[in-house]
Amino acid sequence: MEPITIPSLQVENIAPGTRVLLRASLNVPLEGGAVSNTFRLRESLETIESLAHTGARVVVCAHIGRAKTESLLPVWDAMKKESDLPIYFATDVCGSDATKKAATLKNGEVLLLENVRQEAGEETNDPVFAKKLASFGDVYVNDAFPDSHRAHASVVGVPALLPHFMGPNFAREYVALERARTPESPSLAIVGGAKLETKEPLLRTLLSLYDSVFVGGALANEFYKAQGYEVGKSLISGKETSAGALLKSGKVQVPEDVVVQTTLGKKEVRDASEVLADDIIYDIGPRSLETLKKTIAEARFILWNGPMGNFEAGYDEGTFSVAKFVAESSATSVVGGGDTVAAIERLGNAKDYTHVSSAGGAMLDFIGNGTIAGVEALK
Ligand code: ADP
Ligand code: MG
Repeated sequence: MEPITIPSLQVENIAPGTRVLLRASLNVPLEGGAVSNTFRLRESLETIESLAHTGARVVVCAHIGRAKTESLLPVWDAMKKESDLPIYFATDVCGSDATKKAATLKNGEVLLLENVRQEAGEETNDPVFAKKLASFGDVYVNDAFPDSHRAHASVVGVPALLPHFMGPNFAREYVALERARTPESPSLAIVGGAKLETKEPLLRTLLSLYDSVFVGGALANEFYKAQGYEVGKSLISGKETSAGALLKSGKVQVPEDVVVQTTLGKKEVRDASEVLADDIIYDIGPRSLETLKKTIAEARFILWNGPMGNFEAGYDEGTFSVAKFVAESSATSVVGGGDTVAAIERLGNAKDYTHVSSAGGAMLDFIGNGTIAGVEALK
C-alpha cells in the first residue's frame, strides 16, 4: 500500500473556538421535499458532532441535487431531527446571511450553508469565491470523498488557502480504494452495469492490476459484439468502444451463458453465442454464475462494481447471487457504484463486505486514474 500522505483530522487537536470549514457529502435522496434515507446523513453528522463536542465552531458546506437551484433546507430539517446540536441554516452560501450567522456562531454550534453550487464560482473554482468561503474557517476538513472528483472551489480552491485535513468518512473511502489499487492475489474484479464509455478507464486499470476481470451486465454485450456474437435487441452503447482492444489483453472474462427476454416476453437461458436477433440479454446465466462462484471463493481480494443484469426489472438472479457469493467469501471485498449499492441495500447485507463505497463516480475515477482532484488538493 502507498504511504498515506494526507493528514487526517484528529479532533483532539482542534482547540475550542476553532472555526472549522467542513466540506460534507449531503447529496442525500429527497422524496416529496424531505430526506427519504438518513443513513448517509448520519455518517456526516458523526463528523460534525465530534467537532462540535470539542468546542469547534463548525461551518458546513455541501451541495445537493443536479439543479443549481436546489436547496439544502430539507437536509437541515433532517439534521435537526437526527441531532441534538444547535444547527443553524444560512439562506445563502457566502452572502450577508451566511456572513452574519458565521460571525455569531458560538463554540459547539453548527452553521449549514445553502447549496454551494448556487454560487457560480463553485464549479469554475473561482479564486474570489474560494477566498470568501475560506474566510469562514481557520482550518478546512474535507469529509466528502463522493464529491471530490470535481475540481470545484469547495474541493480544491479552499484547501489551497487553509490548513487542511481529510475527515473520517473521506479517510475510510480513501484507504479502502487505495487498497483496491493494490489487491492481494488471487485478485478478482467484477464489473457490470452499463455505459462502457464511462467505465473504460476503470476497466483498463483493473486489467493491469487484477489477476482476473469478469465483465457482466450490459457491459458484456460490447464484448460479445466485438467477438462477432449476435446481441439481438440488448442494450449497447451507441458509441465506438474499445471493447476489441480490451479483449486483446486476454484477461477479460465474459459470461458463457445469459438470460434473455424473448419476443414473447419469456425468460430463457442461452449460450452467449446463441442469442437470437429478437432477444434482449438481461442477466448472466447459471453456468457463468457457477464459474464465478468458484473464482470468488478462491479470491483473496474482490472489487465489485456494477449490477450483473437489469435487476430492477426482475432479472436479479445474477446480481443477487454475486452479492451473496462476495459477502460469504473470506476475501477482502470492496463494493461500490450507485446502482450496485442500491442492489445491496435491497438485500440488506452491506455489513458483510469489507467496504461498501458510497463514492459512485468518484470511486470509478479514483480507481481508474489513481487519484481524484480532491485527494491531490489535500496532499
Ligand atoms: P453502478 O451505478 O453500480 O456503477 P451502472 O450505473 O453502471 O452501475 O449500471 C447500472 C444499470 O445497468 C442498472 O440500472 C441495471 O439495470 C443496468 N443493467 C445491467 N445489466 C443490464 C442489461 N443486461 N441490460 C440492461 N440493463 C442492464
Ligand atoms: Mg449508476
